Amino acid sequence: MQKKYLIGNWKMYKTTQEAIGFMGALLPELKAIDAGSLALYIAPSFVHLSAIADLIGDHQSIQLIAQNCHHEAEGAFTGEVSAAMLAAIGVKGVLIGHSERRSYQKEDHPLLAQKIKRVLEAGMQPFLCCGESLAARKHGKHKTIVQQQLQESLMGLTPKEIETVAIAYEPVWAIGTGQVASLTVITEMHAFIREVLSELCAGEKVPILYGGSCNPQNAKAILGCPNVAGGLIGGASLRVDAFMQIVAALLEQKDGTGYSCN
Ligand code: PEP
Repeated sequence: MQKKYLIGNWKMYKTTQEAIGFMGALLPELKAIDAGSLALYIAPSFVHLSAIADLIGDHQSIQLIAQNCHHEAEGAFTGEVSAAMLAAIGVKGVLIGHSERRSYQKEDHPLLAQKIKRVLEAGMQPFLCCGESLAARKHGKHKTIVQQQLQESLMGLTPKEIETVAIAYEPVWAIGTGQVASLTVITEMHAFIREVLSELCAGEKVPILYGGSCNPQNAKAILGCPNVAGGLIGGASLRVDAFMQIVAALLEQKDGTGYSCN
């Protein structure tokens, strides 16, 4: 059975004190449940990573991923953070190509492909985000866009390397809007992403997560859809109770094929 993933993307929220407070409340809750079948991650701001790594210590019920890294291994890039720096403090993965970075930092596919390579070289797991805008969906271009995002960002990787990547399907119109994608859309797009990955010779092993207004109320249905290996959660990951309710929803999933989604 494939592991189920849950990532809390804190974006640019929480001071260090608030982040430590959150982890202080979360870790005992995780200790109290059997989360061994889950791959749980928090993606805080860079400045909180070391402090949270110290709090997690040997517990390992939850791991750290970063929200970004630079596309070069090292160099004169003031204000940037390299993949190797992240790996050295115990970070296990990096979000690559979140739609907010594609939009505000103008990150394009070749740049994302370089970032993925740096993350793999540093021994971490890339979590490649993809997803169409509302305009693209309205024009029936959602599949073309997602296919292009995947093909061009994964370009130059061997099938074996692609198998170490995780994908997060995050329709841009669903992120932070409360407008969650329907189960039909999620099922259709996850099946389509699986097909694209198969064409890249990376079959069933790549986990495909869903992100976009997932919350404790809708998590069980979303996480039960075929080909949904977990969730990338923004807003609802900022509160311990909401995060733990989504963990509980994930624990209820027996396998990746639970729900009939219509
Ligand atoms: C995200 O930022 O990746 C995300 C899914 O945000 P939200 O859950 O708030 O829509």
